[in-house]
Amino acid sequence: MRYKSTRGGVSNIGFKEAFLMGLASDGGLIVPEYIPKADLSRLENLSYKEIAFEIFRLFIDDIDADDIKKLINDSYVNFDTEEITPLVREDDLYILELFHGPTFAFKDVALQFLGNLFEFVLNETHSYINILGATSGDTGSAAIYGLKGKKNINIFILHPNNAVSEVQKLQMVTVEDKNVFNIAIDGTFDDCQRIVKSIFSDLEFKNRYRLGAVNSINWARILAQIVYYFYAYFKSGKSSVTFSVPTGNFGDILAGYFAKRMGLPIEKLILATNSNDILYRFVRFGDYSLSKVVKTISPSMDIQIASNFERYLYYLFNEDTNRINKVMGEFSDNGKLKFGKDDLDKVHKDFISYACSVEDTLKTIKLFYDETGYILDPHTAAGVFAAKQSGLGDVICLSTAHPAKFPDAIQRAIGIKPAEPEAITNLRGKTKKFSVLPNSISDVKLFIKQNV
Ligand SMILES: *Cc1c(COP(=O)(O)O)cnc(C)c1O
Repeated sequence: MRYKSTRGGVSNIGFKEAFLMGLASDGGLIVPEYIPKADLSRLENLSYKEIAFEIFRLFIDDIDADDIKKLINDSYVNFDTEEITPLVREDDLYILELFHGPTFAFKDVALQFLGNLFEFVLNETHSYINILGATSGDTGSAAIYGLKGKKNINIFILHPNNAVSEVQKLQMVTVEDKNVFNIAIDGTFDDCQRIVKSIFSDLEFKNRYRLGAVNSINWARILAQIVYYFYAYFKSGKSSVTFSVPTGNFGDILAGYFAKRMGLPIEKLILATNSNDILYRFVRFGDYSLSKVVKTISPSMDIQIASNFERYLYYLFNEDTNRINKVMGEFSDNGKLKFGKDDLDKVHKDFISYACSVEDTLKTIKLFYDETGYILDPHTAAGVFAAKQSGLGDVICLSTAHPAKFPDAIQRAIGIKPAEPEAITNLRGKTKKFSVLPNSISDVKLFIKQNV
């Protein structure tokens, strides 16, 4: 499989190069040259890891089959169940539990794989990388657990000092590996992001220190997420299904879109947002216009600009790179896009959407708990809300986090805190390792210089 950019400036590169490139060098996103069809009869009775191998092989032809197998095995040893992503039946829906990895959020499914893939590819090329990123909580801990202890990689993660949840902070700062650097910035998450962006735009510095990123625009993350759509479909035993996906950066649901295009019988993809509803407005009304980020109880969905959205637009526009360039330019100038009926009719073949307010999130957690005894985390609750609103049958709701990561929201909804997994409780006694830095680009640069 060869890869190219949504903006036409990169073409005919292999998987490994696409993976290391992250963001395409023309500012677009990397996509495969074509979307391959999956042979469903071949996948039907396979385990999670076997399905992963079959899917990966369709997209990777520059890594040996045995090495791909080993990468998959290594990536899922830290999950607490052989099933990796168990499918459970509750009420009249299915819940696909994606939170059985080391940091109890779905991002582990892709980032555990990414860490091993980085180590493998860097080892082949005798090279090294310094990963730099900012986090409001979940991504940082999943990235750290994916990369800790890996050879030829350092990871620097900025988080706002005293502004991430207690569990999220514990997960990040109790990691002892020498290649992990937690930086608590005296500022907000936006300050952290501004610092990271500015450092990446200093190309001299970026190249000298071989900086790289692990954010959700990396194609390998999407690829790893396609697998559980197939796994869940076969587990359900249904002839066709609908998926409901709590959405922020459009990475998770994009993997579902790929699965559908690969031939998985998916009736609809339900795009669930919280009050940050730009994607809901797009699907409903063709209105993709920025507004301010509002804080909710599902913080990983508190996003306005969805970083993977361009990949979907590329397919909506029948892979027309000229139209992508035009539209993305328009969006960066005006902060909004309008779509007409022809586009919307096409969107509605694959997607429907609902937005879930904080009040609806709390109500959904409560109702679901009263009916089943099962505690939904606030992100998953948005997806369950959307599934119920749709009235569709055979809906598989993607559960993106363990409720114990958000105990305060659960307490508000049902009056009790969820039981805490031992792996989280055990973190409390551990030594905490992080550096507090002022809200300053030059201080962070100096810190990187001194520690690489
Ligand atoms: C990241 C995240 C999401 C959103 O996923 P996207 O791929 O960004 O759409 C939803 N829920 C949780 C718990 C997350 O960590």
